[in-house]
Amino acid sequence: MWVKLRNTQGYRGRLAPSPTGLLHLGHARTFGVATQRARDRGGVLVLRNEDLDPQRCREEFVHAMMEDLRWLGFEWSEGPDVGGPYGPYAQSERREFYLEAWRKLRDAGWIYPCTCSRKDLAQAASAPHDSDDEPLYPGKCRGRVDAGDFASPAGVNWRFRAPQGVVEFTDLHLGPQRYVAGQDFGDFVVWRRDDVPAYQLAVVVDDAAMRITEVVRGADLLKSTARQWLLYRALGWEAPQFYHCDLVRDETGVRLAKRHDALSVRRFREEGKRPNEIWEAL
Ligand code: GLU
Repeated sequence: MWVKLRNTQGYRGRLAPSPTGLLHLGHARTFGVATQRARDRGGVLVLRNEDLDPQRCREEFVHAMMEDLRWLGFEWSEGPDVGGPYGPYAQSERREFYLEAWRKLRDAGWIYPCTCSRKDLAQAASAPHDSDDEPLYPGKCRGRVDAGDFASPAGVNWRFRAPQGVVEFTDLHLGPQRYVAGQDFGDFVVWRRDDVPAYQLAVVVDDAAMRITEVVRGADLLKSTARQWLLYRALGWEAPQFYHCDLVRDETGVRLAKRHDALSVRRFREEGKRPNEIWEAL
């Protein structure tokens, strides 16, 4: 259903699913918007496998998501299966890139080691979509100045020292956005004690390294964009543009998550539906 993408301009977009479950109709819609925007601009679309968290990502979901994406008619010109100039395209293979950013943030004093033990840290490698966002950190370890003693991140959690103040940006779809660091989010985790980089850091590093010019994703990640904005600034990198899509909700108004198996793309396929019926249902 999609025509092949041409790289006649500098536009670079991406599809960035996490293999933690089956793709659902919300992904189909967001990726449809991303594809359309790339196509309209004669741009390149990158597929990135966001398999950052070894505890939550499963190989079977990597296969399922690639199959479902192809079945839906999506095409990408760079990705784990086709390669490209900015690979590897799976986050589990990009540790060196994340480590380099970690060192840069450490050396510039932007991050500090945190030894507070909190259950919610387990979530940090995944994009926060609902109530799974990390709570405001009260700041107990904020005053630590021993970051330079660490040659590698493992063993403690690492938090970004979010400068107090307002973060403002204009979303291409939802318009002006305003968040207050210290109120809407606190010193967020960039690297987990078990040596897994956090979503917020990995996604910034990857979007920058892959020269992404526009990030298209769900509106539930707006607050993450504010955090990522701060990371771009701290790292001295140019941020891409952002286009946050409206969320697809189920009949009770709940955001579709992968646990809504009944609304998975896979289920529709198994019921014998065709991709065009999915596009019509959205
Ligand atoms: N991998 C993330 C997810 O599936 C998306 C992150 C993003 O688009 O920045 O939730």
